[in-house]
Amino acid sequence: MNNPQPILPASTNTSDYAIATIGSHSALQILKGAKDEGFHSIAICKKGTERPYESYGVADEIITVDDWDNWDDLLEEQLIKKNAIVIPHGSFIAYMGHERVRKMKAMYYGTKDILRWESDRSLERQWLEKSGLKLPRVLNSPEEIDKPVIVKFHGAQGGFGYFIAKSPEQFHEVKDRKYPDQNDFALQEYIVGVPLYAHYFYSPITKELEIMSFDKRYESNADSIGRIKAEDQLAAKIHTSYTIVGNIPIVVRESLLNQFFTMGDNVVKVSQELCGDSETGKGGLFGPFCLECIVTRKLEIYCFEISARIVAGTNPFIEGSPYTALKYSEPMSTGRRIARDIKMAIEQGKLEDILG
Ligand code: ATP
Repeated sequence: MNNPQPILPASTNTSDYAIATIGSHSALQILKGAKDEGFHSIAICKKGTERPYESYGVADEIITVDDWDNWDDLLEEQLIKKNAIVIPHGSFIAYMGHERVRKMKAMYYGTKDILRWESDRSLERQWLEKSGLKLPRVLNSPEEIDKPVIVKFHGAQGGFGYFIAKSPEQFHEVKDRKYPDQNDFALQEYIVGVPLYAHYFYSPITKELEIMSFDKRYESNADSIGRIKAEDQLAAKIHTSYTIVGNIPIVVRESLLNQFFTMGDNVVKVSQELCGDSETGKGGLFGPFCLECIVTRKLEIYCFEISARIVAGTNPFIEGSPYTALKYSEPMSTGRRIARDIKMAIEQGKLEDILG
């Protein structure tokens, strides 16, 4: 896929560059990390959302837009003039949409081609399967349901409407009664275990894979339903939703770490075969990414999704995590790690290796 190629500045001095991102999601740590590494930091905020970026002093500059539809050539020209490198995060992709991200002319951190592999359910599955990860089984039709499945409606905000069914009859009963018009859904084996989100960083500069941290999500109302008796849940007709309210840090059993490293290595290696150059190791997945997993009581790790960029689960670790404390002698958030890699790329004249 041919994406517009930015014109790269010749300077090898970090202070001639800026790091910019949309003010939301994980922007606080991205901007703070940028400043810590000597960059000019720019928050692009929708009018009325500037307060945290002003209050915490992480943005050297705030650019305000009325709406994300106003992200236009003029704004990009401003960014290009400032030698700004744009860092994508989850909300960035959601607000901008894949097509606009692909067409961006400003310097963009990461591989744009990976968006296609991550956003299409069947391509994502091919990628993860090829990487040897254990995935929940996917059923082709409700008639195949022979054990509990999670029914995921496409575009369900915060997992609202996801439900569990353990037989074809139960599926049809709930679906026909509550979601008669929604027919775009996936049926995934329901894995009984604990959710665990593994945050990685792969540097195309050092060629090293790092585990930055782990989190679990604090979801409303899934994380509070257990506070009332099952019979009260039924009486009150409470429907489970998975709206993310915050993130909780986790340290995993040390004996699981080796497996998590192998999983991360394989996902990176296969991504280079899919949309990079496996000989030179260029392209493919790099920078921060997350494997969204469920770990069972037999300590089997099932991965149900990959996020090919910084996830908000890294936000508790602005001062670093127990894992980055082992590796670095200074606080190393994922945001700062991004800035550090960009800085190394600039200083070594390898900027094109980290831009998509
Ligand atoms: P995202 O923003 O990451 O796309 P989402 O709101 O679309 O999230 P998922 O992350 O797919 O939803 O899942 C929501 C919740 O359902 C999570 O808490 C996850 O732990 C749980 N879940 C998802 N798939 C499975 C599965 N196969 N087995 C058990 N639980 C699952």
